[in-house]
Amino acid sequence: MNVPQMFGENVFNDAVQKETLPKEVYKALRATIESGKQLDVSIAGAVAAAMKDWAVSKGATHYTHWFQPLTGLTAEKHDSFIEPEGDKVIMRLTGKSLIVGEPDASSFPSGGSRSTFMARGYTAWDPTSPAFVKEGTLYIPTVFVSYTGETLDKKSPLLRSMNAIDKQAKRILALFGKKCRKVSTTVGPEQEYFIISEEEYEKRKDLRLCGRTLFGAPVSRGQELEDHYFGVLKPAISEFMIDLDKELWSYGIPSKTKHNEVAPAQHEMAPVFSTTNVAVDMNMLTMEIMKKVAKRHGLVCLLHEKPFEGINGSGKHNNWSMSTDDGLNLLDPGAEPENNTLFKLVLTAIVKAVDDYQGILRASVASAANDHRLGANEAPPAIISIYLGDQIGALVDAIVKGQNYVHKVSLEGSIGVPESPIFPKDATDRNRTSPFAFTGNKFEFRMLGSQANVSDPNIVLNTIVADAFEQFADELEGAKDFEAACEKLIQRELKAHYRIIFNLDGYGPEWEPEAAKRGLLNNKTTADAVPVCFEDKNIQVFVRQGVYTKAEAIARADIQLENYTKIINIEALTLLEMVKQDIIPAVSDYVADLCANVATKQAVNDSIPCNTEKDLILKLSEHNDKLSSLVVRLEETLEKIVPEEIIPSSQAMAHKVIPLMEEMRKSIDAMERITSSDYWPFPTYYDLLYSVK
Ligand code: ADP
Ligand code: MG
Repeated sequence: MNVPQMFGENVFNDAVQKETLPKEVYKALRATIESGKQLDVSIAGAVAAAMKDWAVSKGATHYTHWFQPLTGLTAEKHDSFIEPEGDKVIMRLTGKSLIVGEPDASSFPSGGSRSTFMARGYTAWDPTSPAFVKEGTLYIPTVFVSYTGETLDKKSPLLRSMNAIDKQAKRILALFGKKCRKVSTTVGPEQEYFIISEEEYEKRKDLRLCGRTLFGAPVSRGQELEDHYFGVLKPAISEFMIDLDKELWSYGIPSKTKHNEVAPAQHEMAPVFSTTNVAVDMNMLTMEIMKKVAKRHGLVCLLHEKPFEGINGSGKHNNWSMSTDDGLNLLDPGAEPENNTLFKLVLTAIVKAVDDYQGILRASVASAANDHRLGANEAPPAIISIYLGDQIGALVDAIVKGQNYVHKVSLEGSIGVPESPIFPKDATDRNRTSPFAFTGNKFEFRMLGSQANVSDPNIVLNTIVADAFEQFADELEGAKDFEAACEKLIQRELKAHYRIIFNLDGYGPEWEPEAAKRGLLNNKTTADAVPVCFEDKNIQVFVRQGVYTKAEAIARADIQLENYTKIINIEALTLLEMVKQDIIPAVSDYVADLCANVATKQAVNDSIPCNTEKDLILKLSEHNDKLSSLVVRLEETLEKIVPEEIIPSSQAMAHKVIPLMEEMRKSIDAMERITSSDYWPFPTYYDLLYSVK
């Protein structure tokens, strides 16, 4: 495999653009991509023609506007390039077809924002994310907006939020006499996933319909030996990963790291970071490709946040930073962070933003699936806090206390054997338990779920940081003594928001009560986390930064809650079906056979002991009865829920339906443990987690 040669071979990237576009057109397009210059529509025709020729040479017959509606997934509708000419056809893509598309918007979630206008939605080309050819179709990344300009997707607010950062960060940079064409946020999303055998997967209706197991007794060998993390790859997994990388690279996705994760059957892929909207598109494509490649190998890739109880779930660490087009990373502390005022100011803005808007940041990663993860022991708790590490933590402490900062030098490491090299050690150790950790020159937001669209938290992060930048710039632009005003602002704001900084163990039992004392939010379920989005302060920040209108902000929160309710409803109905149609009858059959065995034994001789059978009969009958009564309670609870009442129904799902499902699970798992495997109707955790060789 010649990686440099095949990397990006399916992408209409810079190199291909340079080769295929007329010089002036190429220059105009790059100006839009690199410095955010308004796209000159007159070049669209030439770009479309070149794109089409290139795509056809790659075997494409169709094109599609590829977008990310509020379902959280991607959407595509394919049109062929054909245009009849006499009784023949030619292949054509016009500039207009490249720039706009008009899919029917009425079947996508809009949270009511559509009620005021027609069902017209437009997709519009996003030239900053490169088009690509996949399976005979040219994919054109687009945004999706309504006739009246309301955003109907995840990408348009993301682009708006990136624009807001660009605008405000440039003001901050100007204060320091620095100029640049563009400030972009960058993201490197580490993607966790499970791989299981397709054969076993097919037998579990819950996995197929809900993406997670709704029951299943813990397997006797879970992750306690800690031997899976970074362990040797199984041959089938290794083959899958080789194929996966090959395919990701062909789409220009810079897949860099692959390894086994903590839980059995769990793995990770981390790409090299890119500009946020490109990183988001690539991650959407990555998730799709992971599933497809797995299928080709007779495997299934599970992207759900918590497919299995009792072992780790999957997240998607959102590594986030900001840099200028000439390569200055605003979060790089440099060798002497104490003397790097720009860094300190940027850091202060982030600390302030995260504290002020912890509610919406938490809400941005809330989903029915991620609720099983946040607050469980492998993931950060549902409380937002910031970890700064030893070095920057000590610097911030010194600033807040008005003390002199004692510079911490990076140490050199050695294992004490002369043959082994001396290696530079990071100034900071890792803290894996913090939801928002400073990791050298970026922040790692660890709450995001594995199947989520990466846009969600980045829209919020960009918006709230842009807002803090704006306030700082407003205050400092007029300052007489800039240095003094800046130091004063930094100290004042760090003091005011010091409560959000927590450098200790975020998983420990002391943190929750401590966080409560500090007044930090701790919204454990989506139903409890999302309603903060309706608070005026949390709407206005989006409005101020031009990311959402009030109606859009409300519509999005509505959709998130609606979606949550729908997902839990599907899970509850699936569980009821599996229990009524399979589990209760299977256990009943087993009990009947045990009874027959007892009767047969006693017919032979009533002194033959039957305690084993009788004990099982008793226990299983009790559990089965309990399960039957829970079935009735769950059905009654679901009947009372009115989905149109968004808040009460989501509350009922979180606080009535989920607890009932968990109680049912206890009975089911107890029965699974003592039911003969000949009778148990579904693959167990052992079958699911250990059948890939
Ligand atoms: P780990 O956190 O697992 O030790 P790294 O720190 O090397 O690994 O990087 C993790 C992820 O962070 C990678 O996807 C990497 O590309 C990304 N990353 C590194 N620098 C930046 C940056 N400036 N902005 C955004 N993401 C970054
Ligand atoms: Mg990491």
